Amino acid sequence: MSDAAERRPNRLRLSTDALTGNWRALAAMSGRAACGAAVKADGYGLGGRDVATRLIAAGCRDLFVATWAEAASVAGLGARVSVLHGVREDDLPLVGAADVRPVLNSPAQVARWRQAGAGRACDVMVDTGMNRLGVSPQDVAAGLLDGLAVDTVMSHLACADEPDSAMNARQCAAFAALAGRTGAARMSLANSAGIALGADYAFDLTRPGLAVYGGVPVPALAARLRPVVTIEAEVLQRRVVRTGETVGYNATWRAPRDTAVAIVNLGYADGYWRGFSDRGRALAGEAVLPVIGRVSMDLIALDVSDADVGEGDWVALEPDLPRASAASGMSQYELLTGLGTRFVRVWG
Ligand SMILES: *Cc1c(COP(=O)(O)O)cnc(C)c1O
Repeated sequence: MSDAAERRPNRLRLSTDALTGNWRALAAMSGRAACGAAVKADGYGLGGRDVATRLIAAGCRDLFVATWAEAASVAGLGARVSVLHGVREDDLPLVGAADVRPVLNSPAQVARWRQAGAGRACDVMVDTGMNRLGVSPQDVAAGLLDGLAVDTVMSHLACADEPDSAMNARQCAAFAALAGRTGAARMSLANSAGIALGADYAFDLTRPGLAVYGGVPVPALAARLRPVVTIEAEVLQRRVVRTGETVGYNATWRAPRDTAVAIVNLGYADGYWRGFSDRGRALAGEAVLPVIGRVSMDLIALDVSDADVGEGDWVALEPDLPRASAASGMSQYELLTGLGTRFVRVWG
């Protein structure tokens, strides 16, 4: 890390123990199935390569990314890398590394891989009802995959975070019906929430993302997961706002009494979104410090009436993702993947 980076006024405090502990908990829940990890979007914002290195050390052997550019940053570390968006014409020059393969999503991608893949292994996505990516079970039955070296056939659940949705069992049954019909060595269906749906959903390989990073897609997983990332930021100024005065853009917050306010080095340009205006909170020791007024691009204001927090001190923002999601109206996925490039990422 460069000297200038170390001196930046905000950082992400990242826990290797929490990351690998979450992954091991998900691996245990996956039963006999292997447990991989989705590290797309730069490891859900935490740093794809740093995440991959740690998960591989913990025993993870299957990584999932969206694009070939993302694959390049986690290839060669000791795990197989599957590119979820498959292979486009523009990707062909990037094909080659033995540990990276596409997840073929359409008949055109299958045809492209037959020609360009030279018999190399691939994965295949089958659409069982989400209508996002994937070839149809009918195409599979008609022989679309015949002769391909398919390692893993997968499908994706649309409603895994709604355990009571009838769609889950429908997709699971449609996927199970592919057993023995694709030539694939392995089958994979469950994302984080899918793992919590039970052993029927695990097949041979699970693909958790969110939960590895401490996100909690369903309450059933809450007790097994720990936050991995905490935003920390430095106080630039402490001031007293007099009764009746306002704070920030558009003067949305008005002081009901003389109030000690800390102005902190964090804003929506860091991925601390405007939805936290008047709703987010920071923690300093035991004290809870509410965000007051609008979140600015680079600054927030905290009510520090209950804390001895001054210029140059650091505060930690709420690390609990379900709570932060409820406060901001952003999904846990958005909160993670939006974490900005100005943070120093400090792994402990
Ligand atoms: C992103 C993704 C995952 C991981 O999903 P989470 O909900 O983050 O666990 C798994 N499979 C596919 C196909 C994905 O796109």
